[in-house]
Amino acid sequence: MTRLLLAATVSLLAVTSAQAQVTQEDIANDATTTGDVVTNGMGQTLQRYSPLDTLNRDNVRNLVPAWAFSLGGEKQRGQETQPLVYDGIMYITGSYSRMYAIDIKTGQELWQYDARLPEGILPCCDVVNRGAAIYGDMVIFGTLDARLVALDRKTGDVIWNKEIADYRAGYSYTAAPLIVNGLVITGNSGGEFGIVGEVQARDVETGEIVWTRPTIEGNMGTLNGEPSTMTGTLNATWPGDMWKTGGGATWLGGSYDAETDTLIFGAGNPSPWNSHLRNAGTPTEGNAGDNLYAASRIGIDPATGEIKWHFQTTPREGWDYDGVNEVVAYTDREGNGRLATADRNGFFYILDRQDGHFLRATPFVQDISWASGIDDTGRPIYNEENRPGAPTAAAEGEKGETVFAVPSFLGGKNWMPMSFSQRTGNFYVPSNEWGMDIWNEPVTYREGAAYLGSGFTIKPIFEDHIGALKAIDPDTGEIKWEYHNDAPLWGGVMTTAGGLVFFGTPEGEFKALDDETGETLWSFQTGSGIVGQPITWEQDGEQYVTVVSGWGGAVPLWGGEVANRVNYLNQGGMVWTFRLPKELASAG
Ligand code: CA
Ligand code: CA
Repeated sequence: MTRLLLAATVSLLAVTSAQAQVTQEDIANDATTTGDVVTNGMGQTLQRYSPLDTLNRDNVRNLVPAWAFSLGGEKQRGQETQPLVYDGIMYITGSYSRMYAIDIKTGQELWQYDARLPEGILPCCDVVNRGAAIYGDMVIFGTLDARLVALDRKTGDVIWNKEIADYRAGYSYTAAPLIVNGLVITGNSGGEFGIVGEVQARDVETGEIVWTRPTIEGNMGTLNGEPSTMTGTLNATWPGDMWKTGGGATWLGGSYDAETDTLIFGAGNPSPWNSHLRNAGTPTEGNAGDNLYAASRIGIDPATGEIKWHFQTTPREGWDYDGVNEVVAYTDREGNGRLATADRNGFFYILDRQDGHFLRATPFVQDISWASGIDDTGRPIYNEENRPGAPTAAAEGEKGETVFAVPSFLGGKNWMPMSFSQRTGNFYVPSNEWGMDIWNEPVTYREGAAYLGSGFTIKPIFEDHIGALKAIDPDTGEIKWEYHNDAPLWGGVMTTAGGLVFFGTPEGEFKALDDETGETLWSFQTGSGIVGQPITWEQDGEQYVTVVSGWGGAVPLWGGEVANRVNYLNQGGMVWTFRLPKELASAG
């Protein structure tokens, strides 16, 4: 009898192990299941909050390294990935479109996949990747040549490999894909090359396209291989044929709010940057120069790709204030469903969770110059004199008037994700306080060439800091505390029920702050700048924390005077996994 039972148990275990498959339910529940991390954002709403409190303010000083893993390669570049953890394996993506599977207990590599990138890829802002998606037996990620690759998660073998768009026209891909109801959903990158932003949904099993939704008015969507509906109304807010090269790249990916069954994607800058070429340079009646739906958040029906709602953060955009920043669904202290987003333009917005309508906005960085505020409808109150001037039409190649604008085009906040703490009800926003000289120039569209019509130099505005991690009360917009950092912050934030705020700095420190006071409780030098996104999970009754270290991203490439200020920082590429040993969990 005993032997029979034992045999039955063993075979059951074997079956379970062979069939460990990530389901839609696993993805839907990710935020509350503490033994795995199967979504970008540690949950579909991207709160990046863990209910784990084994590791907490009293014992975080006992957090110690468990293992480290080198990404190798000759070219160490920005490591912006968020790791995934499932079934004893950690999946991370690396610079130059690489993917690694690592044994979670030992830190040893199980397999590595290197995409063969063609000559002539056009990534605007470093050769980064921000993470993968996992579903069934597959782990899926996008590559810099604008392809989407599904790999067998046990072997790294390619299951399917599909083109998102033509890299030769300036398209690329860096975001973590989303999995929703058996579809894998992606955006695209290339907003500095006059591409057209798009959201694509594919059958996750085959990689075949189910629907597409362009972000720029006048472009046609598709559903099941047929034209579906036009985005917006042709020429309502765009002059002539400019909507054909209108930008609005969906380069940061999106989120899914199961409560309203809505995909939420952001759209980047309208192209070109020079707003005078898009009729956006001078105020007009109504919204004629708004250039919809660039610099907007867009709510999309995941079944059809139809637009449910939109909210444009920067109509008449003229400073490269991409509207891509992540939208985090949350419940406020009164129990209301809300959406929060911290925009490149320096304002922190609260929208209604049901239909995305504007509720309020407050500045989250200092000295914003391009607008004096946001009005009751959600529209910026522009300082028209702070818009870079029109080039003189008569003189080919002549610059328009230069202005000094705050924030810089790299934003009050760029791609690096914020966190919402269910414990405090506050958001923790990685921001930067800097400005730029910006001017406009003439430009004409040429496929595969930069399409800006602007020049710029980023400059610090304060002596003592550029980076500022801010704890923001979303009910009032009040900044409860802030942590200043010399270099610009460029990595993600995570909060926990243990009262901790984790994030890393370009100077290499991986830090845990007190979520109520901002006091530094723990810090570890990782050897290179951190621009990655931390995660936490539990295993064998112990809490683990991982972050990938490796300096890079847009700042060293585009940062102007700021790039010079931080050019001493060394590149790298290491996964650091930390553990709170059981015997030290209760120690103060
Ligand atoms: Ca989970
Ligand atoms: Ca942009």
